[in-house]
Amino acid sequence: MRILIVDDVPDNIRVLSRMLADEGHQISMANNGRQALRVAAASTPDLILLDVMMPELDGYATITALKADPRLAPIPVIFITALADAEDEAHGLGLGAVDYITKPFKEAVVRARVRTHLELKRQRDILAELSTFDGLTGIPNRRALDARLAQEWRRLARSGDTLGMLMIDVDHFKAFNDRLGHLAGDDCLRRVALTLAGELKRAGDFVARYGGEEFVCLLPGVQPEGLAAIAEQLRAAVEAQHIPHEASPTAPWVTISLGAALCQPASDQSPTRLIDAADAQLYLAKAQGRNRASLAASG
Ligand code: GH3
Ligand code: MG
Ligand code: MG
Repeated sequence: MRILIVDDVPDNIRVLSRMLADEGHQISMANNGRQALRVAAASTPDLILLDVMMPELDGYATITALKADPRLAPIPVIFITALADAEDEAHGLGLGAVDYITKPFKEAVVRARVRTHLELKRQRDILAELSTFDGLTGIPNRRALDARLAQEWRRLARSGDTLGMLMIDVDHFKAFNDRLGHLAGDDCLRRVALTLAGELKRAGDFVARYGGEEFVCLLPGVQPEGLAAIAEQLRAAVEAQHIPHEASPTAPWVTISLGAALCQPASDQSPTRLIDAADAQLYLAKAQGRNRASLAASG
């Protein structure tokens, strides 16, 4: 895993990095707090070993800055310091460090504690992965969508950009399951999910499994023509997979219907109306014959 070692004394860094590189870890280094924040932001390490007494930004100020940044706050920090008082230790732990090791340190102790905290980090990462990705399709799940939508809503309310949404539903999917079985249905959902994800290439675009055979795309900054074009692109891409669906009255293969809506997020409104608008358009696309997209006139 990736460990960032922060110390103003090069000898300390040398000893620690040799020791931990031996265990197969990737080591990055910083000589002061300011540099540590830069390296941490650029490489998001799995663990930070942090000295306290450093010129400019000391270890306490550094961990305070780390904990104030939502992206860096989850990285566990172990203080390694010559400050050996119980009060110093309590202060360091109070600022959010997971552990506190005093210098001069025993190699075996550092190794053991680093191992423990990296194992905990690994398990947290697995849990985070399980809680944000859909187990069947591997794309983000409903929980991840809710989080992303709330975050994009706030961001776009500030920037003044639009947010486009596509609500997508597989056509006649109950009949697909009834004809071919639930496992074939699962395979079909995986292929549809991968097809949708594979078509979305812009950095801010996002697709999640909303539930059952429904998916949602978030398309920040999109204009009505672009939204219609992406909806058609996704529709065509799923149809082009030619996943056989003999029981479908719509086509000999699996198709999707899409509801599209667009709005300008505002901080005093919730995204509910956008979801409802996309949902209403999906209903229209179904009513108008399926295997098509319907686009709201304006959000
Ligand atoms: P429509 O064209 O109106 O969307 O009809 P539909 O049959 O697709 O819609 P309906 O809501 O009646 O059926 C959805 C089906 O999706 C029923 C449900 O068993 C199936 N389904 C939901 N989740 C899963 C899943 O994870 N795996 C499988 N195999 N089927 C699922
Ligand atoms: Mg449905
Ligand atoms: Mg359906």
